[in-house]
Amino acid sequence: MHVPGPLKYILHFASPASPIDYLKIPIQTLKVSSLGTHNLLGLAKAKGARILVASTSEVYGDPQVHPQTEDYWGHVNPIGPRGVYDEAKRFQEAITMAYHTYHGLETRIVRIFNTYGPRMRLNDGRVLPAFIGQALRGEDLTVFGDGRQTRSFCYVDDLVEGIYRLLLSDYAGPVNVGNPGEITIAQFAEEAIKLTGTKQKAICKPLPTDDPMQRQPDITLARKLLNWEPKVDRAEGLKITYDYFKGLTPEELNEKDHFSFEGYARK
Ligand code: UDP
Repeated sequence: MHVPGPLKYILHFASPASPIDYLKIPIQTLKVSSLGTHNLLGLAKAKGARILVASTSEVYGDPQVHPQTEDYWGHVNPIGPRGVYDEAKRFQEAITMAYHTYHGLETRIVRIFNTYGPRMRLNDGRVLPAFIGQALRGEDLTVFGDGRQTRSFCYVDDLVEGIYRLLLSDYAGPVNVGNPGEITIAQFAEEAIKLTGTKQKAICKPLPTDDPMQRQPDITLARKLLNWEPKVDRAEGLKITYDYFKGLTPEELNEKDHFSFEGYARK
């Protein structure tokens, strides 16, 4: 990969990150975090640039340690449907650390937990836009499984601040950035029903394969290293996000998919 001129920082965020997206383009998902990361590490080395790569709480898989600390190695099914994302991100971390130890490259690895905020794609499959979109269209809210699985949702501004601080820090290893406020998906559906005032109810749908049962970041390291913690609580963040979705036109609200994969046909 060739880019003219000097480069100080490279931030590698390229990858689908929603389960329904990486199920549609699994091979590209594997390639962008493996071959794509290799390309960017080469570029960083050539330019003497610092590189930050976006990793994920998915490196912990369906975790058996709770909350998840950075020193937990994870519990991932390599050949399950989520494996294309999880294993690509695990490889990304491995090759990034290898460039750090072998070539002395300045590397930063952020493990991003569930994040939400305005301008998410309404139909990207993730739970928050799914619930709000369903409420706004007058549909029931689809809770997968029995809804006892947990997630911890971080408002996007908090995430950006954490990533920025990590970029400017001098720590090369992986750092969790997320909001420890944990909630079951069934409770989350109730919060969405209250927030939107919908008359619809939560209904159960089958749980996707390998859907993690629990997820909560331990952010002790980020607190210490970056003097960072999330500032926006879920009630406030959800309100801002709902206000954004309320502003969509009826066409936007009913559009089936806001993102086309047509350009990705070649494997
Ligand atoms: N989920 C749900 N209904 C939906 C979409 C998702 O119950 O319409 C659940 C999903 O099974 C998972 C959680 O919500 O347990 C979070 O899913 P999401 O796709 O947002 O992110 P994940 O953390 O699984 O990558």
